[in-house]
Amino acid sequence: MKKGTIQKAGKWLLNALLPRACAHCGTDLHYLESAPLCPACAARLEPLPELVCAACGLPLPDGGATCRDCRGRGPGQLDLARSAFVFNPELRSLLHSFKYRAREDLAAWLGSEMARSFTRFPELADYSFAAAVPLHPARSRERGFNQAELLAAALAERANLFLLRGAARRRRNTPTQTALSRDKRRVNMAGAFEVADPALVQDRKILLIDDVATTLSTLDELAREFRKAGAKAVAAYTLAREP
Ligand SMILES: [Zn+2]
Ligand SMILES: [Zn+2]
Repeated sequence: MKKGTIQKAGKWLLNALLPRACAHCGTDLHYLESAPLCPACAARLEPLPELVCAACGLPLPDGGATCRDCRGRGPGQLDLARSAFVFNPELRSLLHSFKYRAREDLAAWLGSEMARSFTRFPELADYSFAAAVPLHPARSRERGFNQAELLAAALAERANLFLLRGAARRRRNTPTQTALSRDKRRVNMAGAFEVADPALVQDRKILLIDDVATTLSTLDELAREFRKAGAKAVAAYTLAREP
């Protein structure tokens, strides 16, 4: 057996033997349960509602074709954006386990949920190439992995997308966006990315993959670079949408 195979088997065995708890409420999970949430918390995950902005995918509880921002200025560099879920407390806990407690194994489960929701959006069916939003190498080293890359790989495998690995990279390590306003986020992200290999993106319809979409400033900035490098069209698909 190869070393990788043995490690995988070891990990599987550990997962099978260790008691596992719901990532949100901490309840013990049944040992046969493959979901990382207990059934009650899993039932509270919120799929993106039917009524969303046609451009940016923002939930619109009162209906309408587009949200106020997109009506004013159009979706920018992205043709459209969609997400599998609304970013609610249960999903926040899941993502927290995934990103900060090195629960890489969650990528497979989250990726398969993303693949399941993907079929809800025929408007994305043409985008057959997937590219993850790159992390700066310093941040990726710190965390041990790029969560967007793991999600993109898990999704691509299940949704039959062709994964463009290493198509883009970060030119600089941008400060975290969490506390910034929409306009400041835009400035913060300007020039943050570069296309590493234009041949990978030319004339292709590309789907950018990330964990959470908030103002879309990161995705928009990456889409700009892909378009400059010759991509035919660029859309985005994320695990979660922050309303
Ligand atoms: Zn729970
Ligand atoms: Zn919108």
